[in-house]
Amino acid sequence: MSDRDQRQNIVVVGAGVVGTCCALEAAMRGHRVRLIDLRAPGTGTSFGNAGSIAIGSIWPTSTPGLWKKLPKMIVDPTSPVQTRWATLPKMAPWLAHFFAAGRPGRVTEISAALAALAQTAMDAHNGLMKRHGINGIIEPVGWLKVYPNQASFERTRAEREAMAAAGVNTELLNADELRQLEPHLDRRFTVGFFQPDNGFVTNPLTLTQAYADAFRGLGGEIFQEEVRDFEIGPAGPTKVITDLGMHDCDQVVIATGAHSQRLARRLGAPVLVQAERGYHANIVRDGPSLLRRPTVIGDVGCVIAPMTDGYRITTGSELSTPDAPPDFSLLRRHVAMARKALPGMDGDVNREWMGRRPATPDSLPVLGRSPRHGNVLLAFGHGHIGLTLSARTAQIIGDLIDARDPGINLAPYRANRF
Ligand SMILES: Cc1cc2nc3c(=O)[nH]c(=O)nc-3n(C[C@H](O)[C@H](O)[C@H](O)COP(=O)(O)OP(=O)(O)OC[C@H]3O[C@@H](n4cnc5c(N)ncnc54)[C@H](O)[C@@H]3O)c2cc1C
Repeated sequence: MSDRDQRQNIVVVGAGVVGTCCALEAAMRGHRVRLIDLRAPGTGTSFGNAGSIAIGSIWPTSTPGLWKKLPKMIVDPTSPVQTRWATLPKMAPWLAHFFAAGRPGRVTEISAALAALAQTAMDAHNGLMKRHGINGIIEPVGWLKVYPNQASFERTRAEREAMAAAGVNTELLNADELRQLEPHLDRRFTVGFFQPDNGFVTNPLTLTQAYADAFRGLGGEIFQEEVRDFEIGPAGPTKVITDLGMHDCDQVVIATGAHSQRLARRLGAPVLVQAERGYHANIVRDGPSLLRRPTVIGDVGCVIAPMTDGYRITTGSELSTPDAPPDFSLLRRHVAMARKALPGMDGDVNREWMGRRPATPDSLPVLGRSPRHGNVLLAFGHGHIGLTLSARTAQIIGDLIDARDPGINLAPYRANRF
């Protein structure tokens, strides 16, 4: 068979950072690729994250004993994981698996499975950027967490032990070392935990757009349409049906982030995906940044990220259904706390934004083939580290498209694990 015969029609649904990387990877392998999204590339959840290529973020959201804290999560507006009474009944099956995923032994397995993907995540982005001449978007400045005292730092012991087991490079900083690294932070922070090997995407939208441009440069086509259904033959989907038309497909990749559950189930994958919502505010910056790298205020769980367009203040998790209305109250409290943490960051807030982390109950993405149709590939559910894992995910999906061994055990990420 000639190379020309091996070219397939690939449709990638979802042009977040994950789908855009998958489309680019498939085009690099010589396929005819269509990338379909109702919005412009990178303008969904991939727009508003904290920008960290977080190769050490291998600690799941559900952890031992979290279920005991559920009542506090509902009533305490400062809890790092937020939820609301009204959404609980709709989320019951997801929540049952979420709390089950927090068993001590299971958490260890999940961390190992996240580490197996994350450890080569930076290399995967570097390779993609180098190949397409993309420069100046990711900076090698690491990721810093700061704490006001030893007691608050000690609460992260289990997470740090998981990182140590996975061989993540970390440094413990005392007050002086912290001052040298980030001199403008408030002096109440006396303990620092530094992950020097994390990359920092100084503008996440620009990165996805650069990957989308590279995709177009290889002849890839982008369609601004909403995928509604599929025409399904004996061997799986043959056409992707949108609000505006139909697209032939030999293989289809589902990369629709927090909205993946309906389409994946239609294609035989009984997945559980919810929106673990997160917010950001953009604070206008005049002049040079007071901060060099994204910095987590450890006792609060918010991040200050010095993006190209201002300081981005991000929040932790709000468990909710994808279409519940936003609640900006936690974000506003975080902005007030962030201003105290970085005196001098006194510009106006010119954007408040909400995004939906695509969250599976066990914090592991869904990667691999649909159990029902061999020509359906699933690439969603990356939760807190979708930016991080996007280029690595694309390598795996590219290998599956070409029926090659991706060189990683995909069992932990299978669609029918719930
Ligand atoms: C506050 C916050 C901070 C974060 N910080 C980080 C971080 O520092 N590092 C990190 O790695 N990750 C971080 N994340 C997580 C990361 O942003 C996500 O995991 C990632 O963006 C998910 O990418 P995605 O491509 O799967 O989803 P999305 O970006 O949401 O893309 C999915 C796309 O699918 C499209 N779509 C859905 N349904 C359809 C349909 N029927 N037809 C056509 N198109 C459809 C949507 O329009 C959307 O564009 C953060 C997230 C938040 C909210």
